[in-house]
Amino acid sequence: MTRSRLSSSPSSSTVSAAGLPLLRLQNVGKTYWTAAGPFVALENIDLEVAAGEFVCIIGHSGCGKSTLINMVAGFSAPTSGSITLKGQPITAPGPDRMMVFQNYSLLPWLTAFENVYLVVDQAYPDKSPSEKREIVQEHLELVGLAEAAHKRPKQLSGGMKQRVAIARALAVRPEVLLLDEPFGALDPITKEELQDELLAIWRDHRCTVLMITHDIDEALYLSDRVVMMTNGPAARIGEILTIPFERPRIRSRILEMPEFYELRHSALDFLYRRFAHVLD
Ligand code: ADP
Ligand code: MG
Repeated sequence: MTRSRLSSSPSSSTVSAAGLPLLRLQNVGKTYWTAAGPFVALENIDLEVAAGEFVCIIGHSGCGKSTLINMVAGFSAPTSGSITLKGQPITAPGPDRMMVFQNYSLLPWLTAFENVYLVVDQAYPDKSPSEKREIVQEHLELVGLAEAAHKRPKQLSGGMKQRVAIARALAVRPEVLLLDEPFGALDPITKEELQDELLAIWRDHRCTVLMITHDIDEALYLSDRVVMMTNGPAARIGEILTIPFERPRIRSRILEMPEFYELRHSALDFLYRRFAHVLD
């Protein structure tokens, strides 16, 4: 594994203050059994994520990013290796790991409020209805949607729908927030607004974030480390960039920094020269 000269910490390992990584993927592989025979999507994935870290995963379409994050969510199991959260194997989805998808995944017949309430209701069976309503309201306010609580998804813009999905994920106070290309369908201005909101929420909640993106600039702006994957089949982690920018980050200042362009060049070189997508 090669490393950017800007990487300063161990390439795949970051350890929390307590000495253990929060999330640990060890030698993870995933094979799908298809009509055409076995298809090895991922191989030898080793990654450690510390509590409170913000990690982005980037790679070409089809390389296995969703496969990877779905295993962390517990939607599917690795074929080989292990994934643990605080030392415990991940075997099923749980409220300690909440996912935000690109396509919002809101129930269309429920209002924004009801979409969030549904998850809060399941996660806190011992709380009273008024306490649960308060949690929902608080999280809709957090994403600036208190006024739109009564609207159904078709009355909301893409950015608003994604805010509801983020509120829904955060309302159960997950330890790990998982995001699979959450801003991929949004226009550039809405996308930048949501990136800044996500950073503010992450700073206040101190959760750990694992986020997939196609967008190199987004990954560099948001994360502590950018994990770059090789192409599939049998995709691996090719290289990890450590992002040195101070927080809170100010977009206009970062865009003036030579280090930003050096990191951007490393990522572009990795994705478009060393692991260029060969179309067949
Ligand atoms: P990405 O999210 O990086 O675009 P995916 O994780 O969705 O990639 O897919 C990785 C590879 O695994 C692709 O070649 C895809 O066709 C294949 N794949 C994903 N899910 C399945 C499945 N359920 N059965 C068979 N192949 C799959
Ligand atoms: Mg995907």
